[in-house]
Amino acid sequence: MSQIGTAAQPLRVAIIGAGPAGFFSAERLLKDSSMVIEVDMFDRLPTPYGLVRNGVAPDHQKIKSVTASFDRTAGNPRFRFFGNVELGRDISVDDLKDYYHQILYTTGAQTDRHLGIPGDNLIGSHPATEFVAWYNGHPDYRDLEFDLSQERVAVVGVGNVAVDVARILCRTREELMKTDIADYALEALSNSNVKEVYILGRRGPAQAAFTAPEAKELGELDDCDALVPADEAELDPLSQAAMAEADRADVRKVDIIQELSKRHPTGKSKRLHLRFLVSPTELIGDEHGRVKQMKLVHNELYATDAGSMRPRATDRTETLDVGLVFRSIGYRGLPLPGVPFHESWGVIPNNGGRVQGSDGALLGQYTAGWIKRGPTGVIGTNRPDANETVDNMLSDAREGLVLTPSHATADEALAFVGERQPCFVTFQDWKTLDEIELSRGKEQDRPRVKFTRVEDMLEALGKSCSS
Ligand code: NAP
Repeated sequence: MSQIGTAAQPLRVAIIGAGPAGFFSAERLLKDSSMVIEVDMFDRLPTPYGLVRNGVAPDHQKIKSVTASFDRTAGNPRFRFFGNVELGRDISVDDLKDYYHQILYTTGAQTDRHLGIPGDNLIGSHPATEFVAWYNGHPDYRDLEFDLSQERVAVVGVGNVAVDVARILCRTREELMKTDIADYALEALSNSNVKEVYILGRRGPAQAAFTAPEAKELGELDDCDALVPADEAELDPLSQAAMAEADRADVRKVDIIQELSKRHPTGKSKRLHLRFLVSPTELIGDEHGRVKQMKLVHNELYATDAGSMRPRATDRTETLDVGLVFRSIGYRGLPLPGVPFHESWGVIPNNGGRVQGSDGALLGQYTAGWIKRGPTGVIGTNRPDANETVDNMLSDAREGLVLTPSHATADEALAFVGERQPCFVTFQDWKTLDEIELSRGKEQDRPRVKFTRVEDMLEALGKSCSS
């Protein structure tokens, strides 16, 4: 047998998940000069880019330009994309072991966390992750319905996702027209009755998870006044002391919040209320089981022995009239069939990206991105994370610690995938879809008009098969 990692027998790697972690990993693998490596990347959707397409807010087009670097990776002749191929539906881990020396899982975090309060499941209470996927045109979420006839909405959590959701709810049609938001979401949001949006943080401004540029943007909306109650913008003595050692970005974030707290309504059509030190304790429904109110408790902060600031309920309570609730308290990973999973952490157990089974590291299986470390950090955070995993993959490969596939050629893998999912989508196919989306966008003076149904994508590609 030829040595693995040579032109005669390239190291064959399957990457499951075509988001940032998958692409950063592919880039690192393909740039390695010590071995000849071939990468096949799979995604259950026909479209690549993961959360860059389906998660990044549509009014943050600049962030999406990172896809140019993913396209450069995809242009490498030793890279192939197999979209519309799902692990567990079309192929299994055991199948992959027959065709690849290494398997890398980069499937991200696809679901949300629950609040665990009474009424959490009432009609009108949704995970923010679903709303985000809906307005971004994710095929699995495009048919969800959100009651935008409501005037008052609460978004629980003060991370960047909560801020994205609140901002999208407050944007005007003209603002949304400049984005690649799904066309049905553009219509629904343009016709929405939403007037008041509350973003609810359980701790204070100094502990808010959103970042300074996102906070600043809230104060710059065309037809929405961003307001912060003055008493909630003030820092308690413990937070004030902590700010002395905070980095510049956090100081700036608190400054922005305090500047917003000095503003008064200017008569814009919508109001966005940024609230701090409050926790929802119950959602109250009407006779149809639809959310109509949220009970809140006011918190105070205390320092733990480890030095972090935690919220503690006081005896002050409040009731908010809201007809729509989005819980935005963090994403959560989902298990993959045949792959170890840490239920309480929502990640694949790993050591530096090497997947851990009950008896230690699993030969030839790796993970990177949110499904490796949990849903933290920005897109760029996935690069060092992917590098760590890939460096361990390369080191294992050099030591011969790889799977022993019986069909270790690109042609055999292609034939196998084609047999399991005849309607797989190549990167060239995606580029065709991309061009159609861009040209439809041009007609409407928008960045792009997305396909949001898998059937429509396959039809546009002339692929006639039921998926
Ligand atoms: P996140 O940053 O982890 O924020 C989660 C928020 O939920 C925090 O404010 C947290 O408060 C709160 N929370 C958690 N449990 C809660 C509970 N039981 N009750 C009330 N509040 C609760 O998560 P995310 O917003 O989903 O974002 C995920 C990652 O994607 C982050 O790293 C984020 O920066 C990134 N992202 C970046 C951008 C961007 O760069 N523009 C956009 C979107 C997302 P505590 O702090 O008190 O726990």
